[in-house]
Amino acid sequence: MRSFWSRIRGKSPGLDKASERWRSTLGAAAQVPYYSRWKKELHRAQHATDAEARSEALLRLPVVELDYLFQHFYLFREKATVAGKPQDGSSLWPCEARIAVVSPWFHVGGGAKLLLKPELEELRRFAPEVIAGPADALEALATAGDWQQDNCLFAMTALAGVGTPLLSQSARLRLWRAFGVPVYVQLRGFQGELFARECEAHNGLHFDAANVIFQRRPSGELLLTSLGNTRHTVLRLATRLEASIETRICDCGLSSPRLMNLQAVTGRALEHALPSAPSLTALAAAVSDTQGTRAGRLPSR
Ligand SMILES: [Zn+2]
Repeated sequence: MRSFWSRIRGKSPGLDKASERWRSTLGAAAQVPYYSRWKKELHRAQHATDAEARSEALLRLPVVELDYLFQHFYLFREKATVAGKPQDGSSLWPCEARIAVVSPWFHVGGGAKLLLKPELEELRRFAPEVIAGPADALEALATAGDWQQDNCLFAMTALAGVGTPLLSQSARLRLWRAFGVPVYVQLRGFQGELFARECEAHNGLHFDAANVIFQRRPSGELLLTSLGNTRHTVLRLATRLEASIETRICDCGLSSPRLMNLQAVTGRALEHALPSAPSLTALAAAVSDTQGTRAGRLPSR
């Protein structure tokens, strides 16, 4: 008898990267307490094989408000999940360079020197070509003293996350005045997974659909589904960020879609204080560790 699971002739069993990540993300979601009542939808959604079907499948799942996530981290974390893998430090810059990363909120592995505090003297000794860090950590560096211009520094990477400050235009100018090099923004997730990066054209942030799915509320607020974080699995997170999505080819030559005019949603204050530069992931881990002993019951919504 033909097995129910036997493959349809002619269909390739190989999944592309986006489909593979989509499946493992939904699989991880099915394991966390928050999604226990949506298991059927998650199971059905796993079979979506293209971007459009995935986007549509997400519409059957709830939007998670950022305030709610911060308040209930423990509901989005699978108990058995081990610590996430460190991010490859070399992804902080698109080509080989001597990189220093200052106060990131995520664990950075090989390829970059990690500085836990923004200290100019230590940085000078390391003589980086690229300095990466959250926008406020870079600003702290800029005000820490005079940076000698006769060094090998040629760029900075400003890290932005959900719930961390974005680099303002005036801060970009201040960094230019203090360091004399351009700044490029990267949007990353709670585990440091890379969502989008600014290119040399400084015209939006390019993203790869295999890493992240962006949807938009009618208000313009970005809803984010990370396909690279199975430690804190949250789908359709309302980011409190707004942006438009540009699919036309960029001046830099890349054809990948871009987030344009990324900015914080104004008007609605968060009830739960946003963590600043040091560490959203550290906070997430700490909060879920203290909350992990609670029964995984869903609060009434
Ligand atoms: Zn570009």
